[in-house]
Amino acid sequence: MPIRILPPEVAGKIAAGEVVDRPASVVKELIENSLDAGATDIHVEIREGGRRLIRVADNGGGIPAEEVPLAFARHATSKLTDVQDLNQIATLGFRGEALASIAAVSQVTFLTRPRAQAVGQFLRVEDGQIARQEGRGCPAGTVVTVEHLFRNMPARLKFLRQPQTETGHIHTVITHYALAYPATQFQLTTDGRQAFQSTGNGNLYDVLIAVHGLEVAEQMLEVQGANDLDESPREWPPSPVPGHPSPSSTLALFGFTSVPTLHRANRNYIAFFVNGRWIQDRSLAHAVAEAYHTLLPAGRHPVALIFLEMDPSEVDVNVHPTKREVKFRNGRQVFGTVQRAVRRTLVEGAPVPALLHASRTWPAPEWEHHQSLLSLGRGEPLSTQMAMELYRPGDLGQEPQPVGPVRLPLLRVVGQVGQTYIVAEGPQGMYLIDQHAAHERILYEQIMAAHGQQAISSQTLLEPVPLSLDPTLAGVLAENLPMFNQAGFDLEPFGGTTYLLRAVPSILVVPDVGAALVDILEMLRQGDDPLALQAEQLVIAAVCKRAAIKAGQTLSAEEMQQVIRQLEQCESPRTCPHGRPTVLHFSVEQLEKEFGRR
Ligand code: ADP
Ligand code: MG
Repeated sequence: MPIRILPPEVAGKIAAGEVVDRPASVVKELIENSLDAGATDIHVEIREGGRRLIRVADNGGGIPAEEVPLAFARHATSKLTDVQDLNQIATLGFRGEALASIAAVSQVTFLTRPRAQAVGQFLRVEDGQIARQEGRGCPAGTVVTVEHLFRNMPARLKFLRQPQTETGHIHTVITHYALAYPATQFQLTTDGRQAFQSTGNGNLYDVLIAVHGLEVAEQMLEVQGANDLDESPREWPPSPVPGHPSPSSTLALFGFTSVPTLHRANRNYIAFFVNGRWIQDRSLAHAVAEAYHTLLPAGRHPVALIFLEMDPSEVDVNVHPTKREVKFRNGRQVFGTVQRAVRRTLVEGAPVPALLHASRTWPAPEWEHHQSLLSLGRGEPLSTQMAMELYRPGDLGQEPQPVGPVRLPLLRVVGQVGQTYIVAEGPQGMYLIDQHAAHERILYEQIMAAHGQQAISSQTLLEPVPLSLDPTLAGVLAENLPMFNQAGFDLEPFGGTTYLLRAVPSILVVPDVGAALVDILEMLRQGDDPLALQAEQLVIAAVCKRAAIKAGQTLSAEEMQQVIRQLEQCESPRTCPHGRPTVLHFSVEQLEKEFGRR
């Protein structure tokens, strides 16, 4: 084919794909417009997860009649004039492509009236073309209605998830903007029901309660900080108003972060806002994680809301069409400020005993016991450092290899190290077994074997446990409900995002079954699935992971024996159900070579 310039409607759809990838991104763009228009009241209404309808109504400045058609043109904006302005963006929007993009992939109606004009304008856009425009009476502000999203883009439509899942994403967008703009009242109505509301009274803590609930809010510590040069505390609470940047180029930080006893299975509860914009930033999430170093159990993450304010010229928001990522001029300074502020809050506000097994060295008391045994009958006791060096598998020159799906030989248990690994010997050398991963594998194979013949054994709870889930997790559950019931749960929808838990798989009889179920839903949401398991296997694997012996648990000799015997019975003993190794093997040759015997 010869090279041709694409017809505008094709080019428009291609560009739209970058901005609008799911209903939540439409909601995001529309509420950003409302906020830029100075709205103090934003009402979002959705039907069928936004696929059928998204309506955003605001009481902001509105658009003058003569400018209304322009708003839908690509690269049409009232927020930028020249290229200099790109260095000083103080509004949420600036690219002038959201409305054009949304209109390219849906049917849009627009009703808007500036306070100063007596009559409003009604505009209907179909397939990116203005189909109708007329004067109409309406309240001051703007109402945008988006219907039949992606109807003209079957490929995108196919990628939309269940309505509950899309609703969950929309809920997440709205709660984050509510947190960023406590002085604006947000409401979300889903399929006619009110799903969220913030007061708009300007108090961030009230929004925190509305979003995360009182119980979580009470376990949050206030964080404040500034850049290195100026650590002086700031006025509290400063309000992140776009268009009113702080006069100097100081970086100011405020927010909330959880006490170390409150933690979650993933990082989704760590949120960052830069000058009132909700952003995603892996490096900053890492800064927060580092601040909690040794304070949280391995694999757990805090809840944190971090607001950063800086001069707009310090941050480039024009790095991604969705404006969800930013680049800091001085990223290191921002990283350090976040990390120090959170760490200081934790140290001052929540002095906790040094925790569990978060760092990679063996727990000290246990180790000292072993050390004294090791040094019995020898002159000098081994220094802890030296002794650990000896045990580090990396020191064996060759990395120990996890091996293929071969059955294990008969093994003799030697002992447990770090309350995490079982040391065993076999004919071909030494084996280190990860007790948690191994037990996961054992439970998984036992369940799958029994499952072939009959239903998975399940235990009815004495009293049903009501679980009110956040909408995203409720979406995950709704999508997988049949699988959960097959895996031995008895779960009954109880209206909205609440479920009644009546029975759990027998292996999951733990003190807090509700929390266990939430953990399992988190695992599924994270989609930690390198092996592309079927949905049902994924649910079962997640149950096994939650039910398995944990790292950090002291095992008796009998318990270790039992784990090893059962692992020897497994079809694929060398990996956990998610594909990670359960066993490391140090061969006799490897050991001989390392000790210079050969
Ligand atoms: P951008 O926000 O990047 O400027 P958009 O396509 O989102 O681009 O919007 C185009 C223009 O339409 C905006 O610059 C603004 O002037 C106007 N506009 C859009 N939504 C609203 C609203 N809710 N209230 C007032 N003006 C609006
Ligand atoms: Mg916009």
